[in-house]
Amino acid sequence: MEYPKITKTPFEQFAIKPNLQDYHKMGEKFSWDKISSDLDWFDHEHINIAHVTIDAHLKTDRKNKKALIWESKKGEVEEYTFLNLSRLSNKFANVLVKELGVQKGDRVFFFLERVPEIFIGILGALKAGGVIGPLFSAFGPDAVKDRLADSEAKVLITSPALKKKIVEVFPELPALKNIILVHRGEAKEDPNDLSYDRLMAQASDFFDMVKTRQEDYAIMHYTSGTTGKPKGAVHVHGAVLGHYATGKYVLDLQEEDIYWCTADPGWVTGTSYGMFGPWANGVTQVVYEGGFSAKYWYSFLERKKVTVWYTAPTAIRMLMKAGDELPRNYRFDSLRYMCSVGEPLNPEAVVWGEKTFGKAFHDNWWQTETGSIMIANYPIQDIKPGSMGRPFPGIKAGILDDNFNELPSDREGNLALRPGWPSMFRTYWKKEELYHSRFKKGWYITGDKARRDEEGYFWFVGRADDVINTAGHLVGPFEVESVLIEHPAVAEAGVIGKPDPIAMEVVKAFVSLKDGNDPSEELRHDIQKFVMKRLSSAAAPREIEFISSLPKTRSGKIMRRLLKARELGLPLGDTSTMEEE
Ligand code: AMP
Repeated sequence: MEYPKITKTPFEQFAIKPNLQDYHKMGEKFSWDKISSDLDWFDHEHINIAHVTIDAHLKTDRKNKKALIWESKKGEVEEYTFLNLSRLSNKFANVLVKELGVQKGDRVFFFLERVPEIFIGILGALKAGGVIGPLFSAFGPDAVKDRLADSEAKVLITSPALKKKIVEVFPELPALKNIILVHRGEAKEDPNDLSYDRLMAQASDFFDMVKTRQEDYAIMHYTSGTTGKPKGAVHVHGAVLGHYATGKYVLDLQEEDIYWCTADPGWVTGTSYGMFGPWANGVTQVVYEGGFSAKYWYSFLERKKVTVWYTAPTAIRMLMKAGDELPRNYRFDSLRYMCSVGEPLNPEAVVWGEKTFGKAFHDNWWQTETGSIMIANYPIQDIKPGSMGRPFPGIKAGILDDNFNELPSDREGNLALRPGWPSMFRTYWKKEELYHSRFKKGWYITGDKARRDEEGYFWFVGRADDVINTAGHLVGPFEVESVLIEHPAVAEAGVIGKPDPIAMEVVKAFVSLKDGNDPSEELRHDIQKFVMKRLSSAAAPREIEFISSLPKTRSGKIMRRLLKARELGLPLGDTSTMEEE
């Protein structure tokens, strides 16, 4: 079904004027130098994300403005001004440097729920010159171990409950020198533990921030690959230019806004737009500690008077599933702008947004590697439901054939970007070759397939690789297969993404069993639980099908493409490399 364009009111008629006034004019005149001049640098090459996002505001009227309003799962509220966050992050920087000997470039990782300490800790670690790495709190021991081992993180900040989950992997992490525990009322277990509260109580709130260079490493986010372990995309302090600019012109953040980003800090959206972009724009953020609940989310939007909301298609689909009656109990008068990222946003969801909130969701596209939004729908432009929109001013996006030559409009191909924007990843940690392999003929190859129409709107087609996008989480099939075969009953496993109306894709595993094991419901549950515990609930196969053997190439590679084609009843394609069964 073709969805009609959602035509925008002319710029002059907006009650609140959007920051982006003329897309084409801005594109012509765009320069990152001009964006730079909005931000507070130490000098022409030294900049620190924590300074730009927090301390720089202390010289302005925003000093006592609320930066963070946090609501716990139990409904308790804590509020922090920019000044509060500055002082607390100074304390944490002192803890890292003076107590734990953290030096510039050391990796400081966070395995925490969405509590204020993750924000304070990340800012403090950046002030100390550390490279921060947030991990999803839903991760199990193997997922945590792989990331901490690869990054050689020196310090981990976690909670007693989460520590318990991963304690078995610590002996395998020689680089990990210190674990700081955020108790938040949880019983103190071990007097030998480093307690966040105790360390913070003793620390000074003055800290001479490390004057990092624009190109110094600042942030690491692990992202999934098809054939290997997750890889650490590394971003630099200068990335904050991209967070700031896209926060201003895509999310349209303005002084009076109350902004809510629903992303977990373990995902790049949770740092770029759950911390840095909004705070670089001096905006008040609201954060809800808990996960999804349709009722709670509607009430949160209403109670907090959220004006700008950044969420994800899975969440929107779950809200849609909860029915049209529920939102009628709430008022969304404050809400003026809504955006979505992470997966293709179904046209129905755009239309549903208009019906329910009186405004459409603005889809935008980017990746861990790009560090900030690359393609977007803007407040002043017509929306074509189902399209990700147009490239951010200053960004050149192209559609390439398989020889990496540019294709004309309306042809499907590889979505690629001309490198050179500030928030672009600088490497995959210790995987330089893999990093370089992402660049061809002067383009960065995104790994997505897309199409551009005559009017310059981009349309997502699919991923070029096997990576599964389940509820906005990228899951590498190899990582799941590796854990599956550690289960004592499993001989071999092949994992694919199976289309799903809510989560876009769910993880489906094909499993062959070792001799002496028989398929059963009980075994199925046991295997699911096994993966959930080791990796995360997102990675645990929703479906497990027991098969006698897996289709493989002659070189022994599992043919996931074939598993998927069989699953979906599609033609099997070229099977010439297939091993005889
Ligand atoms: P991640 O690096 O985990 O943020 O995942 C990035 C990938 O998510 C992209 O390469 C796309 O495959 C997918 N993605 C993100 N945003 C969108 C969008 N608006 N439409 C379609 N796919 C998206």
